[in-house]
Amino acid sequence: MTRVHNFSPGPAALPLPVLERARDELLDYDGRGMSVMEMSHRSPEFIAIAERAEADFRELLGIGDDYYVLFLQGGPTLQFSMLPFNLTERDSVADYVHTGSWGTKAIAAARKLCRVNVAATSEDANFTYAPAPADWRLTPGAAYVHVTGNETIGGVEYHDYPSDLGAPLVADLSSTLLSRPLDVSRFGVIYAGAQKNIGPVGLTIVVIRKDLAGRARPATPDMLDYLAHAKAGSMMNTPPTYNWYLAGLVFAWLRDLGGLAVMAERNRRKAEKLYAAVDASNFYRCPVRDADRSWMNVPFTLADPALDRRFLDEAEAAGLANLKGHRSVGGMRASLYNAVPEEAVDALIDFMAAFERDAG
Ligand code: PMP
Repeated sequence: MTRVHNFSPGPAALPLPVLERARDELLDYDGRGMSVMEMSHRSPEFIAIAERAEADFRELLGIGDDYYVLFLQGGPTLQFSMLPFNLTERDSVADYVHTGSWGTKAIAAARKLCRVNVAATSEDANFTYAPAPADWRLTPGAAYVHVTGNETIGGVEYHDYPSDLGAPLVADLSSTLLSRPLDVSRFGVIYAGAQKNIGPVGLTIVVIRKDLAGRARPATPDMLDYLAHAKAGSMMNTPPTYNWYLAGLVFAWLRDLGGLAVMAERNRRKAEKLYAAVDASNFYRCPVRDADRSWMNVPFTLADPALDRRFLDEAEAAGLANLKGHRSVGGMRASLYNAVPEEAVDALIDFMAAFERDAG
């Protein structure tokens, strides 16, 4: 078996011990003679798996009883619409902080349902920085303030969040949740697709302060109503059981490693050494402002874009996969999620130096 260093932005690398355990339990889960995939979501075995996953997730992030944790489908893209269905009326204003492509999509979805005020944007600088909270032009009485905590494509991340905005802070943390400790009490709603730091794609986790659930518009279908999902324990219909189980294995892996503080230390080291290598060279370049550089997604360009193809081919041959940048920005992007080990980053840095010597 050969496993490559996988820098995919998502669906992304999963921790090897998690995959090995899933393999070992694939045909016969805990002596039940069947796979978790083949079990009823109402079975005591699966209920135990689901409850343990939620408990571990809550413990990792220190989530209090005043929040619901929901295990949903539809991806973060559905959250772009579900959120305004639940937290706005037609004439409400929702404030959006716009730092890249995912924010653009969240704004477009919200505009169909309520009024949107773009409270801050870095579009003027091609989304290469995160406007400071002090510069957000917020609407008094806004339904909520939405921020994309980490723009997966542009590699722009908020490294801190304000605590007192006067309106609930809502964050798309798809590509950063679980990469470090987080003060959840600062947020009204957090949502994240699983396919970066949580598990395989197909599961979306929503953390919502209890008082914010139960405000959905009257015509909101139950499947789009946070409170309906909360009341049903995220089992209003058949949930993505196998994904939930795999997410639980990832949470247990994180817990056994020492939790999010340990992971944060690793992630900081990984990102810092890659940015340092990029900055030290005249051949590679990262366009993002220092203070706002993402720990999870590191975009960089080569001095000559004509070399991009050769870089990718040679990287692939060296066992470094999925480094191509998003088509909208070009260049390269190395995603350094929790499951990407420090050795992978070291191997990438060595490869980059060798490539620069050869081609630069
Ligand atoms: N938000 C962010 C920050 C993302 O990175 C992504 C996907 N990469 C999405 C939303 C959309 O996720 P999905 O396609 O699963 O709906």
